[in-house]
Amino acid sequence: MNLIARRNNEQETTTVRVGDVIIGGPQLVVIAGPCAIESYEQLLSTALEVQRLGATMLRGGAYKPRTSPYSFRGKGETGLEILSQIKALTGLPVVTEVMDARDIERVADVADMFQIGSRNMQNYTLLTEVGKTKRPVLLKRGLAATIEEWIYAAEYILSEGNDQVVLCERGIRTFGTYTRNTVDITAIPALKELTHLPVFLDPSHGTGRWSLVSPVALAGIAAGADGLMIEVHPQPDLALSDGEQSLNFEHFAQLMERVGPVANAVGREII
Ligand code: PEP
Ligand code: MN
Repeated sequence: MNLIARRNNEQETTTVRVGDVIIGGPQLVVIAGPCAIESYEQLLSTALEVQRLGATMLRGGAYKPRTSPYSFRGKGETGLEILSQIKALTGLPVVTEVMDARDIERVADVADMFQIGSRNMQNYTLLTEVGKTKRPVLLKRGLAATIEEWIYAAEYILSEGNDQVVLCERGIRTFGTYTRNTVDITAIPALKELTHLPVFLDPSHGTGRWSLVSPVALAGIAAGADGLMIEVHPQPDLALSDGEQSLNFEHFAQLMERVGPVANAVGREII
């Protein structure tokens, strides 16, 4: 089968443009921000700090897929409104999750890039609808998706005429229990071989433990990732979701100091 996602001989990696940010070029891109948008102050302080430290895109969820329906499920439209204000203030392009095809328009009013979460990687209606928008998409790997299933999921978006797709490895379910998921570093070079799409790594959900985020992030860069998505919170202990895997500002600063030399060692740049 000749898939649109497939890399043909010598084909360059497709560049995905999100505002002024180019994903898939020589420059490594770091997207950082909280798991969930909790308040104006929380998002503003995080955005300013990650921007100062070299992140060029902001993340933050307004619609959160949670295992329990009784957990904090995001601030919805209020969250989007906060995101829009912080985007205007900082100039950072933003990525946020769209969980439901019915929310696409609302999310598109703010998002420079749609995030399709792990749990929705095989929601084919949603994939088709975001494909129609032509807006960049960060497609996270399903919790238990093979590489092939993931590529076919991307194909749903590509086949609607939207070639602005970035694949994001975020760990998969294995028998291991020490970490939240098992990061499949091999997926990064494998996808580079098989597809022309840029590949990201999210070591926050991949590991589920903040202390493991930086070393795994560096491994991802060494393996050829085009960028990182990192959860950062001003006070991880007080976070309404994913605090245990979120870096505080100090730890994010330490990661950013280490990213440059590793990026350079594999022929990449970082601002
Ligand atoms: C997230 O990025 O906050 C998230 C819910 O990720 P995933 O879909 O990979 O679990
Ligand atoms: Mn999260």
